[in-house]
Amino acid sequence: MGHRDYDDAVLVTIPATTDAVQAALYYYAPRGWPVLALHSGTSAGGCTCGSPDCNSPGKHPRTAHGLRDATTNAETIRELWARWPDANLGIATGAVSGLVVLDMDPRHGGEDSLDELVRRIGPLPETPEVLTGGAGRHIYFAHPGSGQVIRNATTLGGLPGLDLRGDGGYVVAPPSVHGSGRRYEWESSSHPDDVTLAPFPSGLSNLVAARAARRQVSGSDAERIPEGERNATLTSLAGTMQRRGMSPAATKAALIAENAARCNPPLTEAEVCAIVESVARYTSAVSIPVPPWGVSSDERLAGLFSTARELSAEAPATAPYIVNGLLARGALTELAGKVKSSGKTTFALALVRAVTSGRLFAGLSTTRTGVVYLTEQGSSSLLPALHRAGLAGDPPSAVEN
Ligand SMILES: [Zn+2]
Repeated sequence: MGHRDYDDAVLVTIPATTDAVQAALYYYAPRGWPVLALHSGTSAGGCTCGSPDCNSPGKHPRTAHGLRDATTNAETIRELWARWPDANLGIATGAVSGLVVLDMDPRHGGEDSLDELVRRIGPLPETPEVLTGGAGRHIYFAHPGSGQVIRNATTLGGLPGLDLRGDGGYVVAPPSVHGSGRRYEWESSSHPDDVTLAPFPSGLSNLVAARAARRQVSGSDAERIPEGERNATLTSLAGTMQRRGMSPAATKAALIAENAARCNPPLTEAEVCAIVESVARYTSAVSIPVPPWGVSSDERLAGLFSTARELSAEAPATAPYIVNGLLARGALTELAGKVKSSGKTTFALALVRAVTSGRLFAGLSTTRTGVVYLTEQGSSSLLPALHRAGLAGDPPSAVEN
């Protein structure tokens, strides 16, 4: 039943710190949340990593081992920001920090998706939350424990703009500077000092489990289709469906579902229909029946149409391979890798080396031929690659036929 005078009362206000070291040392490390030094955005809209085509400006780790460098060690934290005072700050998610973060990105329709999520699983509990500076929200939950793995997920529940950061992930955290120039901030009534972490909602847990089950059924097919690959991927899917005998109507229905679940952002229904129609045209073109007027007997039409029997008589028995089973003469072969350092140049130059010398490539026989290699790569990085491939020493073999 004590009584305190106003004189004794101390009003403590903790200003939102704009100092990453302070945030790391006094807010995050004491909670056992390992932090990461991240790159920063530049005023020109670039990234301090200096790569002109950086696909994650100001959001990827500065240190050599990325996520594995996440730390709660005060000395390391001080050293990192002494070295890069403007570094953005990331927090590792997953069992390592006890965090799972729901990431709402309004640029991909995340606001509507969050509304839809609440309709499906009910309101989200009170829990710490970050405003990203780009009108996005990071909603923090307690990780269910080290026995359970919560994977990173994009387009959670098929909802665009809703991602989950769990085991093996991280989030950009306050006081990092967003690409918009504004800082990431704790939502004023949802600072972790004021609100305790809510348990990971069972509704979200169910969505994650459903996703894992779907992935087991269809393998990597359940992956999200990025913007630049939507047309090609859906066209390929439609082709597969029709070759297996699905009707255009069934293909269309399946493709509309795939588009909604996996494309981010989804194509319009008209675009999906156009894909199905174009695929229906070319898949039916190979089985055109012989017209009643008789193509083969009409000289005016000779050469314009072929029956399936005529085509199969013309087709060579074996493909004219340059690298057996891999690279055929007259065919377009695409070599794709997701990231810059995935080894595309090394692979392509090893292929050039094998083909120009007629040697085995990865155990496959080759037919010796000349190669024209077109590249936008600068000579400073191409020359070392040519040396590594053993191509720089004997230029004649690369051009002779
Ligand atoms: Zn970068």
